[in-house]
Amino acid sequence: MTSPVSSRVVEPPVTSGDSVAPVDPALRDLWLDVLKEIAPKIQRSQFITWFRNTALLNREEGTAVVGLPLPMALNWHMENYRGITLEAAKVCDKSIEKIVYKVDGGLKDSQERTIDLLEHFPEKKRRKLPNKHEVKMAEGVVSKILSPRYVIENFVVGSNSRLAHAACQAVAAQPGDKYNPLFIYGGVGLGKTHLLQATGNAILKQIPKAAVVYTTTEEFTNQVIEAIRSQKMEQFRRRYRAVDVLIIDDVQFLANKERTQEEFFHTFNALYEDRKQVILSADRPPQELQLEDRLTSRFERGMIADVSAPDYETRLAILAEKAQEYELFIDMSVLQFIAEHTTRNVRELEGILMQAVAQYELEQRMPTVKSIAEIMRKLNKDPYEEEEDVGFESSPKKAATFQDVLEEVSRYYSVSVNDMIGSSRVREILFPRQIAMYLGKKYQRMSYVRLGEVFSHRDHTTVMNAVNKIDKKMHHDPQLLREVRAIEQELGLVR
Ligand code: ADP
Ligand code: MG
Repeated sequence: MTSPVSSRVVEPPVTSGDSVAPVDPALRDLWLDVLKEIAPKIQRSQFITWFRNTALLNREEGTAVVGLPLPMALNWHMENYRGITLEAAKVCDKSIEKIVYKVDGGLKDSQERTIDLLEHFPEKKRRKLPNKHEVKMAEGVVSKILSPRYVIENFVVGSNSRLAHAACQAVAAQPGDKYNPLFIYGGVGLGKTHLLQATGNAILKQIPKAAVVYTTTEEFTNQVIEAIRSQKMEQFRRRYRAVDVLIIDDVQFLANKERTQEEFFHTFNALYEDRKQVILSADRPPQELQLEDRLTSRFERGMIADVSAPDYETRLAILAEKAQEYELFIDMSVLQFIAEHTTRNVRELEGILMQAVAQYELEQRMPTVKSIAEIMRKLNKDPYEEEEDVGFESSPKKAATFQDVLEEVSRYYSVSVNDMIGSSRVREILFPRQIAMYLGKKYQRMSYVRLGEVFSHRDHTTVMNAVNKIDKKMHHDPQLLREVRAIEQELGLVR
């Protein structure tokens, strides 16, 4: 169930560091035009999140240099927005042939150089949700209401859910056609119910008269039991066989329920023969469900797609989406903090955000890193206690951001931040990279996994080895000790 590591763009972005270049109004106007091309192509919340504080820094000989405010935005842009950005740039200026990125920390607080996205790209109207959540089935039976909260448009796609999302879209476009049944599996809180209901909503929007039924396995089971008890099995069967789209959530609960399995098997067959769409979810793949073989093999006939835990960038994108849904513009650093310190379960991620929203509504207090840490502590998810310790003697304080750490190490050793977080294995870069990892662990309390993600998706054991190596070496290498202390001093971490 691990998500595949997406292929990386090898072309190196340019250098890092704060630029002191004067504002060029022509570049700024051109960038606004480019942004206007990009905006309609991606979700607004994503657009605001990832294009905020960006700028066009330069345009020479066909190369447009796009400035990003944070190193962590680099991977995301390269993997998700480079194509769109280039296309948009070409529309606005035919001479542009290539996009390269430059991380420029100064963009964060430079209003003259960047564009106020909220001003230039105001929200148009609320998302249109299907207004018909109740579907009358045969004999006056009303299907379970699909939550209008779940739509395909507000599902954030990452490499962890790309296939499942695409399959749902295909099914929504042509139910009963290609992927039947559609089987989505994955752990708790990773978006299965969201995807299932969103697919149902999308079908309803397109075919308002369709009888789309969403039910949990538990409910289905209860209905079977009730039908048996009241001797209304015939009615039960007729009802379900009149359905156009049947969505059943969490079918792992069918295990050990022979009678329900049997009824389900017949319902499934009837619908399948009629080319009606069936969509299922479970917490594990069909073959591990411990159901009757005939059911398992039915499930395997269609399309099977998994959802796994989102990586850091996807978590951040989900948070941005949710914050936007709650109409709360939370500072990016706060969202980053949540994304860094939560488990990979999206439901928990959302829970923390909900608390922040509640706090905001009750006390009119914008969430800060501190208030979020407080919330997490109350929810028993102390962000500072999540990871095993490397065994540092004292308990150092958390001060500068990891961005600061990267920049300071980069300055000290005269290597660029991009090289440091990149994939080069040149010795001159290797060493500063290890120092940065060590400091990230020591002062930012970042997890090895998260550090690995920052450093071009390196394995967490690589990071762990680097951190331990530096930690050990400092005990008998006075030169190294001096260097690290100097960096720590620059960062205000020690006196
Ligand atoms: P599951 O059914 O897999 O246990 P849910 O679908 O109930 O998980 O998801 C839990 C919460 O997380 C929901 O509120 C859902 O909207 C949200 N969620 C999960 N994945 C995503 C995603 N990729 N984009 C947006 N929201 C998500
Ligand atoms: Mg669910």
